[in-house]
Amino acid sequence: MMCDKRHLSFSSESPEDTLEIARAFGGALHPGDVVGLTGDLGAGKTLFCKGVGEALGIPPDRIVSPTFTIVTEHAGPVPLTHIDVYRLSNAREADEIGMRELLPGDGVCLVEWAEKIEELLPTDCIQVTFTISGDDRREIAVAAPDLPRFDDFRARSQRFQSGG
Ligand code: ADP
Ligand code: MG
Repeated sequence: MMCDKRHLSFSSESPEDTLEIARAFGGALHPGDVVGLTGDLGAGKTLFCKGVGEALGIPPDRIVSPTFTIVTEHAGPVPLTHIDVYRLSNAREADEIGMRELLPGDGVCLVEWAEKIEELLPTDCIQVTFTISGDDRREIAVAAPDLPRFDDFRARSQRFQSGG
């Protein structure tokens, strides 16, 4: 089912803010959701994944960005597949290693550097875009389906919302 997306913008002033936004966001995710994360190195994508993992009951220290690991699967009540395609050149390379079969997965799927493999992502992919706007400041834009299950996320993250 296709549905309209709602665009939400947040200002994070610290790593802890980003974790809090991510935990609230993670609470709205359902099995089968694919989340594409876009933003420069150090923008906070992996930190955001830790917060989402926490919401799904996965200890944050299990979510890391090892240099050569592209796919990490975490077991849990809602399984989490954490993908980082930084080392891949394009969607074709991702396809060759079987990424298409992982998307969507049985649980939630988070994809860092999603823009590199856009053609492989489902059309209803949720998008989270990070912009570095200061030493500890990040703008985080979320385009999520306009569904009731995201109402709690909007409410819980309200104090970080920056309009738009
Ligand atoms: P990415 O996965 O996008 O490369 P990481 O999450 O690995 O980025 O790293 C983000 C870095 O930026 C961390 O060192 C974190 O402490 C720092 N940082 C500083 N301020 C913030 C913020 N507001 N949100 C997220 N990370 C922040
Ligand atoms: Mg990362």
